[in-house]
Amino acid sequence: MKARRLLFLGPPGVGKGTQAQRLARELGIPTISTGDMLRAAVAAGSEIGKKAKGFMDRGELVPDEVVIGVAELRLADPDVAGGFILDGFPRTVVQAEALDRILRGLGRELECCIAMEVSETALVKRLLNRASLEGRSDDTEDTIQNRMRVYRAQTEPLVKYYRERGILRELDGLGSMDEVAERIRGALAA
Ligand code: AMP
Repeated sequence: MKARRLLFLGPPGVGKGTQAQRLARELGIPTISTGDMLRAAVAAGSEIGKKAKGFMDRGELVPDEVVIGVAELRLADPDVAGGFILDGFPRTVVQAEALDRILRGLGRELECCIAMEVSETALVKRLLNRASLEGRSDDTEDTIQNRMRVYRAQTEPLVKYYRERGILRELDGLGSMDEVAERIRGALAA
């Protein structure tokens, strides 16, 4: 049976958001993007948004307890019961452990972690391109460099975390959207 509780892991700009949305549509399950939820909270001016804004603008991670709270609420929603694709959460080992605990509490577990990777130069190019298209306030060159550093230091250790769990599938994120989508399909079928 195909995995329906998935996580996409990879550096900023690797294309995981796009691929996560595409696969979610195919599987008929929702994506859960903490980045999108936090941006909505900032736009709404909510308490969570106020706590998150400064960190996001600097390209730093929002504190674990804030993000874990956001993810926990979303994972309890009824539309998530049939499966989900996590995009951008967890980003630290503390968050990964919290995710395990949350899912255990719901009688579920993560089935597959898709880890995407491409070269640093290609990543920065993609992010600057996205900045000009979408006007995201955290897609400036300084913030991009910072987000990359943060990813390598705090999030990359999760590759090992999920490898040791035996649910990691690693793939190259370079290529057209269709090519990468095909690789993802292959990884899920393997
Ligand atoms: P994203 O859209 O996933 O690139 O997230 C944009 C920004 O939101 C990040 O640079 C962080 O500041 C914040 N953020 C999103 N998800 C998380 C998370 N799981 N942990 C901490 N900060 C997060």
